[in-house]
Amino acid sequence: MITVLSGGTGTPKLLQGIKELVPQEELTIIVNTLENDYFSGVYVSADIDTVLYTMSDMINDELWYGVKGDTFITHERLEEIGCPELLRIGDIDRATKIQKTQIMKEYGLLKAVEIQSEKMGIKSKIIPMSEENSEIKIITDIGELEFHDFLIKHQSKPEVLDIEFSKVSPSKGIIEAIRNSDAVIIGPSNPITSISPILSLEGVRDALRDAFVIAVSPIIGSDSVSGPASKFMKALDIEVSSVGVASLYEDFLDVMVIDDKDDDKKIKVNQIVNKVIITNTIMNNLDAKKNLAEIIIDSIP
Ligand code: GDP
Repeated sequence: MITVLSGGTGTPKLLQGIKELVPQEELTIIVNTLENDYFSGVYVSADIDTVLYTMSDMINDELWYGVKGDTFITHERLEEIGCPELLRIGDIDRATKIQKTQIMKEYGLLKAVEIQSEKMGIKSKIIPMSEENSEIKIITDIGELEFHDFLIKHQSKPEVLDIEFSKVSPSKGIIEAIRNSDAVIIGPSNPITSISPILSLEGVRDALRDAFVIAVSPIIGSDSVSGPASKFMKALDIEVSSVGVASLYEDFLDVMVIDDKDDDKKIKVNQIVNKVIITNTIMNNLDAKKNLAEIIIDSIP
């Protein structure tokens, strides 16, 4: 059994490779819920939906958001009638979100995702990290912003001074999944807003200390491959590099995978974690995703 900790872009890319090599039944994916919120009357759990669409081959893997080939009739009509949406939600994607919102009301998020996974033919277990809503605040030079306002309305442009998020309880099954796994893979997701929320759940770090954990750096050189990870790390005074990422996982990490452009960082990363693997970590095609997945899986004892 393998457990993967995931956000909504870097790790789903890796999942496309992992799922070519590992039977879906042997995978559990614990997904960040920090940014979940209601938009246009529906519950938006962007990272969970991205993982659902990735595992069912529906993902729009140019944007890493929404469904490939989706239409935007409802979104455009809402704009025409004076009700513009902050998020651009596609029609098929909206159906997923409406269904999730409906099921959640009665059975909660965990069950809703379980039912949706089954309907999409997914054999892996996808577990939202928590069923509770998180509060997240991005403190910037233009004031305190909601996460989506920072990301979409302000296009991640303001200078970030601090990030705060509330503590939530882990969903049922998370600790057991980690404890019953041969290895835990932390994909190259945003260490601050995708992975830290999962690590902050009660019992997770303890369980990881007893597990075999492999992480892939989302930072190459001194910048993230995409998104605001480097900005967030800087705000929290964490070195923006694979060294900084490794330091966040120091107490439980067994293997760190860094990009071959980071050869010069190997010695420093090695002072934090026993085994360092250097390889291409840019996943811009299926072969690159499969190669990286294979190297990770081969490192499991
Ligand atoms: P979010 O939920 O959309 O923020 O997505 P994640 O947290 O899953 O992923 C965002 C992180 O993925 C960013 O910090 C990127 O640097 C990283 N990332 C995206 N694509 C790649 C890639 O091909 N290789 C590596 N190493 N990192 C990547």
